[in-house]
Amino acid sequence: RQNERESLYIILNFAKNFYVQQLHESDEGQAVGLSYFKERGFTGEIRKKFELGYSLDTWDAFSKVALAKGYSTQLLEKAGLLIHKEGSQTAGYDRFRGRVIFPIHNVAGKVIAFGARILKSDKSKAANQPKYLNSPETEVYHKSDVLYGIFQAKNAIRQLDHCYLVEGYTDVISLNQGGIENVVASSGTSLTVEQIRLIGRFTPNVTILYDGDIAGIKAALRGLDLVLEEGLNVSIVLFPDGDDPDSYVRKVGAEAFKAYLKNNAKDFITFKTEMLLQDAGNDPFRLAAVIGEVVNSIVKIPDAIKRQVFFHRTSEMMKVDEQMLITEGNKILRKLH
Ligand code: ATP
Ligand code: MN
Ligand code: MN
Ligand code: MN
Repeated sequence: RQNERESLYIILNFAKNFYVQQLHESDEGQAVGLSYFKERGFTGEIRKKFELGYSLDTWDAFSKVALAKGYSTQLLEKAGLLIHKEGSQTAGYDRFRGRVIFPIHNVAGKVIAFGARILKSDKSKAANQPKYLNSPETEVYHKSDVLYGIFQAKNAIRQLDHCYLVEGYTDVISLNQGGIENVVASSGTSLTVEQIRLIGRFTPNVTILYDGDIAGIKAALRGLDLVLEEGLNVSIVLFPDGDDPDSYVRKVGAEAFKAYLKNNAKDFITFKTEMLLQDAGNDPFRLAAVIGEVVNSIVKIPDAIKRQVFFHRTSEMMKVDEQMLITEGNKILRKLH
């Protein structure tokens, strides 16, 4: 097992180096990949920091080189780099073809997987292929345990005692480009306990910067009770509809972006209460349901003093008696323990 993991790290690192080299040294990589990254404003320094690469648009450019180096078909397959159909006589084909490559590192900095983006210009492909293609689950890559960018961000997170959580690879990279280094991405999945605990190793303070669309808001609301349960302090910033952190920072510039974060960060309980109240309108039954839901979130907070602060705050927002909220909260807490 240990041996197999080591072999996987080695082939994944080999692949990463190959993709980085193709990006900078092949004609196709320069013409297609490098110009794509440059169009998105990613500097050489940032490309180096995140080890961005390019996979050639052929069936076997990578596996041919890897096999010639003596790596086995089985290893390439186990690493998620080669797709080989059961019973097929052929050697199989590269998983990543004609895409820009985002290596995914573990906390220690080892490459464990890849995210690969289709190129914008490639309309014929874009029609029937996913925008992002990721490595499958492997012995060293468990998607639900991973935060993209954690290796590059961990020192900044510790120093600033604060972490920004975004949805995508390009959000992480664009914020870095703007000088914000304490940022990681959940990579589109809804947040898991493992991901939250990973952040918690470095700081208890998290601000969620999800995309300004319904999907982003829903994902934020879904993940957040979990974050509260883990004892983290969660705030959230929403972006104008249609923007994500990447597009927004490029639109307004780094300074205005930081000011926007400062002016628009809301603690999660306040955010949730506002959203639910808006939805409920004047309907008393729906209002009652809102009160129940807000109390349910507050009791997830392990710290009693923080709970008290939020009972007070939300009682004012919902225009109900604070003592009633506390009583309801205590009922739930007694059931839980
Ligand atoms: P871009 O700015 O390059 O269009 P994005 O990061 O804004 O990309 P979103 O559509 O907002 O892309 O998705 C957020 C994240 O979800 C992506 O960065 C990626 O990690 C993940 N994701 C999106 N689409 C897919 C997909 N088809 N398969 C796997 N992961 C995906
Ligand atoms: Mn999105
Ligand atoms: Mn996005
Ligand atoms: Mn985007």
